[in-house]
Parts: sequence; structure tokens; C-alpha cells
Amino acid sequence: MRTRALPYYEFSEGMFEIDEFDCASVFVIVGEERALVLDTGTGIGNLRWVIEHKITDKPYDVVLTHNHADHIGGAGFFDDVWIHGEDADWSDLPVPPTLTGRKFYAKLIAGRENKNYAYDVERDIVEWPKEPVKHILQDGQVFDLGGRKVTVYHCPGHTAGECAVIDDKSRILLAGDACNRNLLIPEDVMEEARKGLERLLDLKGIAYDLVYNSHHDFRGFGSPLGDAVLPDAVACLKSIQDGTAVYKKVPDALSSEGAMKMVAEYGSVQVSGLSDNDWPKD
Ligand SMILES: [Zn+2]
Repeated sequence: MRTRALPYYEFSEGMFEIDEFDCASVFVIVGEERALVLDTGTGIGNLRWVIEHKITDKPYDVVLTHNHADHIGGAGFFDDVWIHGEDADWSDLPVPPTLTGRKFYAKLIAGRENKNYAYDVERDIVEWPKEPVKHILQDGQVFDLGGRKVTVYHCPGHTAGECAVIDDKSRILLAGDACNRNLLIPEDVMEEARKGLERLLDLKGIAYDLVYNSHHDFRGFGSPLGDAVLPDAVACLKSIQDGTAVYKKVPDALSSEGAMKMVAEYGSVQVSGLSDNDWPKD
């Protein structure tokens, strides 16, 4: 039996964060008629069972923030998913959701965190039963869940199709990997990334008050990112563009070899390029 021990927490009415053992966070937003699941994690254990037996019995849509394996790794356990067109081709991904890749990442995070988790890599990370059907997610698309509406914001940068969502009832922005304290952005898309984050920043206090990203390593489980993170991210990207950025070398949190990497730092945020990685491709 694949583990059902995924921790979850209702941090605001009808808003759940599921902790995929420090690998990723999955969010579930429950309305009066429907629910929305944001991301599918790395695909450790039986996420679907936890959603359907512990969190909601309502019909739901699965929305993927972007096409990295720690967010689409469980997609094949669902029938169909929504993803932006720019991230919808999974035939040649830099970080593909292969079985070896998903196990590699789970071991990397478990090693980094130095914890014991309620899953077994071999038993609880298994092949997808099928490829999910993909629906194309649009900027501005609204999911009406009954009593609450969730709006999609295309926020390219981390990936070309990265999307964030805002829930109008809780006034919470779920930012995927678009906003984070360790922001990974390819160098040639800084302008696009800054514009995407500025658009979200402009909606602060209007459409949302709190920001959650899809990992909780720089915030408490169920707790929002600090208020400074999004403005700091924008300022950091600006400083890279205008040549005033302050750079320093830090340990690469995604290196299994203890490698160092160069980051630009501004306040609470560090920005670095998406480095070449040793992610197993098959
Ligand atoms: Zn990512």
C-alpha cells in the first residue's frame, strides 16, 4: 500500500497545504461546489487518496503551476490536468518526472533535511498508471468553485509557462515557484520574470494579502511568505538588470555533491540561474 501519511493542514477556511515530505507543497482550495488542486508534487505516496478521503468529496480540477518534476511528478495519478501552453510539452524537459528522477529528488531532499519520513522510496514512488489528459490553462482563466473564485495569472520566468493563482475568498496568492526566497530564473528571461512579478506585486492589497509558494522550506508549513519577499524579488531582478546586484557564493540546495553556486542577493531573496543539474533523464 502506498503511504497515505502525507501531512496536511487547513491554514485558512477551505485552503489546505499538503506537505509532500519537504519535496513540494500541494494546495487544495475547497469551494461550496467544487475544489481545485494546485500541483501534484513529486508523486510520493497516495496524494489522490488524501485529497479525496481526507480533504474533500467534491469534484475537483488539477492545475499545475509549471512543468518541473516536483510539481507534475504525481500528474499521472490523476485523469486530467490543466497547464499553461508554454509548459504543456513534456517530451524534452530539463527536469522530467521520470521514475528515477522522482526518486533521485526525494532522496536529495531527505538527505538535505536529514530527517526520516513516513514513506519508502521504492514502495511509495511508483510509475504512473497513465499519461494524464492535458487542458491548456489561460492567463485570466477563472475557476468558479462556488462561493469563491480562483483566477490564473501567467507569470513566466522560472519556466515559460509558470502560473500563479489568486483565491478571492481567502485573498491568498499561491505563487507556485514564481516567487520564493531562492528564486531560480534562467538569465535570459529576467525582464519577463520581473514584469510578471511586478504585475502580481501591483495586486497586493487589492486582490490578495498573503503569499504562499509551492515549497515551505523558507516559511513554516501552513504559514505565508514574509511580506518583503515579493518586493525583494522584484528589486533583486531589477538590480541584476541594471548592474547593481550584489553577488555571493552559497551552497546549492539542489546539489547532491555539496556544490556552491553564485546568487544575486537583495533583502530576503536570492536569485540564481537554473543551473545544469544531474537530474536523471530516464
Ligand atoms: Zn520549479
